[in-house]
Amino acid sequence: MSEAPIDGSVLVVNAGSSSLKYQVLHPATEEVIADGLAEQIGESTSRIKHWYRGHEVVLEGPLADHDAAIAAVLELFAADGVDVADSGLAAVGHRVVHGGRSFFEPTLIDDAVRSEIERICPLAPLHNPANLVGIDAVTALLPAVPAVAIFDTAFFHDLPAAASTYALDAAVADEYAVRRYGFHGTSHEYVSRKVAEVLGRDLTELNQIVLHLGNGASMSAVAGGKPIDTTMGMTPLEGLVMGTRTGDIDAGVVFQLARVAGMSIDDIDTLFNKRSGLKGMCGENDFRAVLQRVEAGDESAKLAYEVYLHRLRRYIGAYMIELGRVDAIVFTAGVGENAAQVRADSLAGLAGYGIEIDADRNAIRSPDPRVISTADSKVTVLVVPTNEELAIARQAMEVVGQTP
Ligand code: ADP
Repeated sequence: MSEAPIDGSVLVVNAGSSSLKYQVLHPATEEVIADGLAEQIGESTSRIKHWYRGHEVVLEGPLADHDAAIAAVLELFAADGVDVADSGLAAVGHRVVHGGRSFFEPTLIDDAVRSEIERICPLAPLHNPANLVGIDAVTALLPAVPAVAIFDTAFFHDLPAAASTYALDAAVADEYAVRRYGFHGTSHEYVSRKVAEVLGRDLTELNQIVLHLGNGASMSAVAGGKPIDTTMGMTPLEGLVMGTRTGDIDAGVVFQLARVAGMSIDDIDTLFNKRSGLKGMCGENDFRAVLQRVEAGDESAKLAYEVYLHRLRRYIGAYMIELGRVDAIVFTAGVGENAAQVRADSLAGLAGYGIEIDADRNAIRSPDPRVISTADSKVTVLVVPTNEELAIARQAMEVVGQTP
């Protein structure tokens, strides 16, 4: 083992309310050195799956909180002879979901930045508090390593006003920072840039529709590298149908459930974010299970799949009009990268608009970026695996002044 096995690398941290995903990687060489996930933090059934240079260990046993989880992860590194606090780690990059109106670029975390992230927590109560717990836990154990916050909203900061403004009383919107922020920005930015690379074209010349279809799902219209619209709004609830989230829904449903069903605001928040979407409609939020049930003729899964596709196609149509000319349609994230059926169904019957998928190319499974449209298709359709960790590591490195 080398003397400084993680020298010059970045620790990327994505903290959820009961989970902590991490990766150690070199932004320049793209080498992943370690990768892991701590789950069910705060319960008796916590476990950590930790991978370091080709070998994996699973640690089971209670982790009281995120501090305990990070401490356990550092011990796993120590077991492989790596003292993370003293091995030349260049930076920690923290994924922070909501940057509100304050943050629109990667930001070195100091006390003032930490307080501001805390102040905007009400905008993203399901996400930012967990991100902050992650920041505090890592900072406590690695106080000497610069920490950088990378915001999911940043890429969409300059959305045109027509796309970012809700048709709401302007004074109320302004007072409570109610606007459309957009999320998954790190992924939309990474993927749209990668498309230019793959096609050997200048990013500024390309009009793209990017479909980030994971458990959470969002779509963006990107003109010359700049987003002009996106499906998520003030929170990551708006837009596409997701694993457990409604996506677009008439706000009147909230009034109905509160007045008639007597549900509290918190009940409705949980219903819309955790018990809806595919899971709400057919009981499954894992897309593979939904597709298997569709195949087996299950009616509720079929309807859920149709609602999912209907929403996707509605936005594809909208973004074609907004962009005027579309050069590329790109699929990414768990469903977008793996589910050939979803790609085929979402673009079926669009040959009249110059969009044609090649069935053989679409069926190929590969971890590499690839074109899946026919040679004659006017619009190039691609699958581009996202890599948010790499994008976060690169941005963190730029902030600490060591451009990779
Ligand atoms: P997130 O990061 O939002 O949690 P991912 O991008 O990891 O989500 O995507 C998870 C989703 O991808 C799950 O719904 C999973 O079922 C789906 N998925 C993964 N592999 C496949 C596959 N081969 N076919 C269909 N769906 C898949």
